[in-house]
Amino acid sequence: MGSVFVVGIGPGDRQGFTAQAMAALERAEVLCGYTGYVELAAPLYPEKEVYATPMKQEIARCRWALETAQGGRTVAMLCSGDAGIYGMASPLLEVAPQFPGVEIEVVPGVTAALSGGAVLGAPLGHDFCVISLSDLLTPWEQIARRLTCAAQGDFSICLYNPASQKRKDHLRRACDILLAYREKDTVCGWVRSIGRAGQTRRLLTLEELRESAVDMFTTVFVGASTTRKIGQWMVTPRGYRRG
Ligand code: SAH
Repeated sequence: MGSVFVVGIGPGDRQGFTAQAMAALERAEVLCGYTGYVELAAPLYPEKEVYATPMKQEIARCRWALETAQGGRTVAMLCSGDAGIYGMASPLLEVAPQFPGVEIEVVPGVTAALSGGAVLGAPLGHDFCVISLSDLLTPWEQIARRLTCAAQGDFSICLYNPASQKRKDHLRRACDILLAYREKDTVCGWVRSIGRAGQTRRLLTLEELRESAVDMFTTVFVGASTTRKIGQWMVTPRGYRRG
């Protein structure tokens, strides 16, 4: 019986791989995952067999990995960032009971909230939450409710999937919800293509964020009421008391 590693490979290039992720990829005989991520890692391991599939075939990909492992092979399933955050770890673990005996290891990676946060400075220095604006698997009403709660709770908010090819106005709609509870000049930022060629970043106000055209390769940060712009950095202080 073989095993499946579900591996977060970080935001982009090899520098973002953890040593644990590299060790898992080295041990694997077969690399599989969404074409874009497999293409990032496969050139580093030219001797490995590669099975790349397009987006939106998650369950089929999990079954393929588990079946291949049942056949005695070691498979690494690649995800960008962290495997457990809007990644393949949950669908794999949900399907896995149908493939008894296959060993599974979840290998964490650097998620976009962390790699993008570092590009902007320290936007997540105090309590924060992560919300995906994708309504592919979540009804918009639930996303809107979570945005409202996060705004009321004065969390720093990190937004994943701020736009999709089909829906361009999710960020604008999210900002409208946040603006009901947060100041217009709340410090915000976004980072596009973190750790990849053409990485770009911008600091802006919540009002300006509402007018921003961002794409699906962007991670957005909305500050808490305490978040400040210090020079080029977005900084959420760790506490409310000043020493
Ligand atoms: N598992 C991934 C998240 C997948 S959801 C992780 O932990 O990072 C896809 C969303 O993640 C994108 O829409 C974007 O908001 C964010 N994202 C992932 N990689 C990114 C990168 N290199 N640059 C900017 N945003 C990224």
